[in-house]
This record gives sequence, C-alpha cells and structure tokens, in this order.
Amino acid sequence: MTPMVDLKAQYQTLKAEIEEGLAQALTSSQFILGPNVKAFEEEAAAYLGVTHGVGVASGTDALHLALVAAGIGEGDEVITTPFTFIATAEAICYVGARPVFVDIDEKTFNIDVEQVEAAITPATRAVLPVHLFGQAADMAALEGIAAKHGLLIIEDCAQSFGAEIAGRKTGSLGFAGCFSFFPSKNLGGYGDGGLITISSDPVARHLRGLRDHGSWQRYHHSELGFNSRLDELQAVILRIKLKYIDQYNAERRRIAQRYSTALAELPDCIPPYEDRGRTHVYHQYTLLSPQRDKIQAALAAKEIASAIYYPIPLHRQAVFQKAYGDITLPVSERVANQCLSLPVFPELSDLQVDRIIEVIRSILLGK
Ligand SMILES: *Cc1c(COP(=O)(O)O)cnc(C)c1O
Repeated sequence: MTPMVDLKAQYQTLKAEIEEGLAQALTSSQFILGPNVKAFEEEAAAYLGVTHGVGVASGTDALHLALVAAGIGEGDEVITTPFTFIATAEAICYVGARPVFVDIDEKTFNIDVEQVEAAITPATRAVLPVHLFGQAADMAALEGIAAKHGLLIIEDCAQSFGAEIAGRKTGSLGFAGCFSFFPSKNLGGYGDGGLITISSDPVARHLRGLRDHGSWQRYHHSELGFNSRLDELQAVILRIKLKYIDQYNAERRRIAQRYSTALAELPDCIPPYEDRGRTHVYHQYTLLSPQRDKIQAALAAKEIASAIYYPIPLHRQAVFQKAYGDITLPVSERVANQCLSLPVFPELSDLQVDRIIEVIRSILLGK
C-alpha cells in the first residue's frame, strides 16, 4: 500500500525528540501561549525572513485574522483564485467581504496575473494569491498591480512553507503570509495550527491581541477578538520539524524530479511546470492528463493512492452557486477535470516511485 502521505513513518524517525519535548512541556504545564509558541514564532519568522510570526489555531484562522487586521470587511472585494481549498474563500466571507474569482494560469495552476487588473473595481481592497501545491504565484506582477491600485496582498502559504521566488520565501512578500500546520502540510503538526507572518510592528501587535479575545492587557478588551491561539504542544512538534524542513522539501523536490523525468516522455501526460525563478516545494505533485481517471483506477488496482486536488473549482461549489452560478472560468474547470496528484512525501522510497511510474507508463503506452 502506498499512501498520499505517511505520517507514521515520519513520527518513527522523530519519536525520541518529540516525546522528550512533549514531556518537558507537560511537566512545565504552561499550556497556553507558553515558551514553545513564543520560540516557534521567532524561529519560523527568522526562517521565513520576516520580523514577526503570530501563531494561531489553524490556517483558516490565519487567513481570517489577517483579513481582519487588514481592515477588510463588509462591502469590500478581495480578488483570489477559484482553484484552491475552500478555506481561502471562506476566510474572505467571514469578514463580510466578497471573493472575486479570477481564472488560473494553466501551467502553474496559480492565479492568472494577466486577468487580475480587469477584475479590480472601486470596492477591491486586496489580492489573495495562493501558492498552490508549493509553487509561488507570480508575485512580481502582483506587487506591481497592487502598488498601482493601492491594494494589499495577503498570501495563502498553506501549501508553500519554504517555497521561494527570486530568493525570497513565500510569506515575506505581502502585507501578511498565512500558513497552515494541518498534519499533511509540508510543515505539519499533530493537530490544527497556523501562523501569520508580518513585517509591521503595529500589525503584529494588533494580531497578538486579536487571537486572544481582543485583549492586549489581561481582562481589558478594546476590540472584538477571537480565541485562536497556536497550541503549546503543537508548537513543541513544529519547532522540532522546522529543523528538518529544508531536508524534507529537498526530498520532495528530488522525488518530483524523478517523476517528471519519466512522465515527460509519455503521451497524454503533462508533468507539473516548474518556473525557473521559483523553488517549488511540492506539497502536491500534480500532473494533467485527459486519461487521469484511467490512471487513477490503475494505481488503485495496485494499492497506490492518488488524489484529485481539486475536483470542483470554488465558483462551482454548491455553497457559492447563488453568488457565482453565472460565471465561467474555463482554465480552472479544465484543470479540475484533468488533474491528478501522486504520492509525494519525504519518506516515499525510490522503489515506490518506480512502481508508480511503471503503472502510469503501462496505461498511457497501452502496454
Ligand atoms: C490547508 C489549507 C488551508 C486551511 O488550513 P487549515 O489549517 O486546515 O485551516 C487554507 N488554504 C489552503 C490553500 C490550504 O491548502
């Protein structure tokens, strides 16, 4: 059996370190905003090249609180991609703003920067790109558009911990970067968790209070806030895994390279595009094929997992049908029908990769 991700295998390699760290935290019993959350925020901020990290309860909350801190609310519009996980758009809706979906670039699956300007209206306040599958969106183009029109950029970095563009890490490029530590992400905890990266001192201070019931001084509440803190035990695990993230991402890249070299030779199969100026960290390895259902069935017959991220673009989701029923975003719709993500995780063996390539070869070459 080859799964999409093998959390048990990774735990086995880190077991001693994690159990010792957890035992120390349990002994100290500082469970809420304790020393590990503070240390993780500082270590992650240093790694990502930003001044501040603010730990929150999930990636969804990171997006939500970043939008609140940006002052975005009722009547505002935020331009984003329809080809992402629902949380990206949910967060925009939580603050009362409207997601405006722009189609994607068919090579990178990220927001098509050429279509962003046409979507700007007097109500537009921000652009929310997602660095999908671990490859940065075209940030230079977005920075130009944002500066010209006075918009903020809020990055959805849930899938891109460690990814770079022009030598800078995602999460350091806009007003705020929003990370998720859902267990299957490149940097994953053992439960929910998230981080907002920010370079402005006052905005970071605002966020530290927002995540803690709108309180900057105990039992004084000057603003309606949230209960959304990064958990101390999750911070213990994340501090340990952060030490290995470059190694994990390098291993993902190595596996992706092996897949792409083999798959590039096959008919009806487009391996993921990797832009030269960007370091793709392969949260997902996603190919395009008009025969993806056949490939998926053949893999399943050999007990190899694969997944469709995402089968339905957000403007086609039932929850958004009323609001977006009349729009067509052809590239997202075509990609949703042809995309297939293969297993990619640091512990995946070369033998497993070879077997996966062999199954796809035999299906596409009809042998
Ligand atoms: C996982 C994910 C989120 C949400 O993160 P949670 O920690 O699960 O709330 C948001 N956006 C994208 C693109 C994601 O992949």
